[in-house]
Amino acid sequence: MSMRQTHLLTKTRKDAPADEVAKNAALLIKAGFIHKEAAGIYSYLPLGERVLTKISNIIRNEMNALGGQEVFLSAFQPAEAWQKTNRWDLPVWFKTKLVSGGELGLGWTHEEAITAIMKNHIASYKDLPKAVYQIQTKFRNEERAKSGLLRGREFMMKDLYSFHADTADLEAFHERCRDAYLSIFRQIGLGEHTYLTVASGGHFSKYSFEFQTLSKSGEDTIYLARQKKLAVNKEILSDDVLAEYGLLKNELEEQSAIEVGNIFKLGTRFSEPIGLSYKDEAGALVPVVMGSYGIGPSRLFGTIAEIYSDNSGLKWPDAVAPFAAHLVAVGGTDEVREEADRLFDALDRAGIETLYDDRQTAQTGEKFADADLIGIPFRIVVSTKSLDSGGAEIKRRTETETRVASSEETVRHILDAYHI
Ligand code: ATP
Ligand code: MG
Repeated sequence: MSMRQTHLLTKTRKDAPADEVAKNAALLIKAGFIHKEAAGIYSYLPLGERVLTKISNIIRNEMNALGGQEVFLSAFQPAEAWQKTNRWDLPVWFKTKLVSGGELGLGWTHEEAITAIMKNHIASYKDLPKAVYQIQTKFRNEERAKSGLLRGREFMMKDLYSFHADTADLEAFHERCRDAYLSIFRQIGLGEHTYLTVASGGHFSKYSFEFQTLSKSGEDTIYLARQKKLAVNKEILSDDVLAEYGLLKNELEEQSAIEVGNIFKLGTRFSEPIGLSYKDEAGALVPVVMGSYGIGPSRLFGTIAEIYSDNSGLKWPDAVAPFAAHLVAVGGTDEVREEADRLFDALDRAGIETLYDDRQTAQTGEKFADADLIGIPFRIVVSTKSLDSGGAEIKRRTETETRVASSEETVRHILDAYHI
């Protein structure tokens, strides 16, 4: 949906709050994508909501292609299932007391909840396999929340859970999920920066996989074998793990990275204590074998802001940008206004989501600075000068060169770039 900037809810601002130390959040606050409520707690404003929705929809499509069925579980969690798995007393919980007595926790992950639900829906081998996912707010009492969207106390997570009759079926699904994750990172523009990383496992499997995006702001340290497109998390670096994955010490680079996702073979860690089992073909009762697969849309949002930005502002990759084009009318003449209005309609009709800077009061310099700060992929300027040269000036946010094009050419150029 296109929009006139005079209708946009937000304004840009010169400075981020003094206590905001994270580059991603500082930029996103200045540009009007998010609002800081408290450390690790942010609200999403229209521009931010658009980006988050685009990231989420890319993830959603990949989850659906895996056969995942979308659900939306309650954030409030009663203690019962979590006591069975010994996770009710962890410090990560935000808990609240009911006036009527008793306690509820705010979900920081949902293995226990989904396992308990599935007891009603899995009884036989014929009910397997199943995959269930949600994109939902999680709450974690993180000790340090200084990395903006990278580490929220309230944040978005996509969590997928899979249910299988045996380990072989889990392994096959786990591999498909790994490929789906790599595809997600490619689509949102993090493909070149993100590496499959061997990390600690649970009591079911020795190792798990994380997806780590190289960035100086990352809180993790990984050892990367770039040629082999595989890394090892520093936490588990050992001769054993190198031997198991065929990596050599002298090919490893130490890098800071952001953990943007992970995939985990849970085995029967949750199904046994909670009592999720099925009858096999011989009629024997067997615990269901599970996997869990997490990815953080809000952490991805922050990661993209960290990587795709410069001193002037954000530089959104096409697929997750809040708008495809930022149309800027420069100078107050009727001719400019009429031509810009016409172009806005043409872009919108062609299905190009456009933010139209139709402000009469803003100076040219301010308009350009705002366009750079917000970071929409294409800037289209209509001015007396551009009209004299035959149309509008188009420039990519990532390039310095502008080109002049007629309105049809402008529309065509952007449609081509977006493969619409
Ligand atoms: P970390 O080690 O960074 O705390 P984690 O191992 O606790 O991450 P998971 O519990 O596996 O993470 O959560 C799945 C995904 O959710 C992570 O890969 C990450 O993308 C996202 N995530 C986890 N914690 C946060 C947070 N506090 N803020 C934003 N995103 C988060
Ligand atoms: Mg954590």
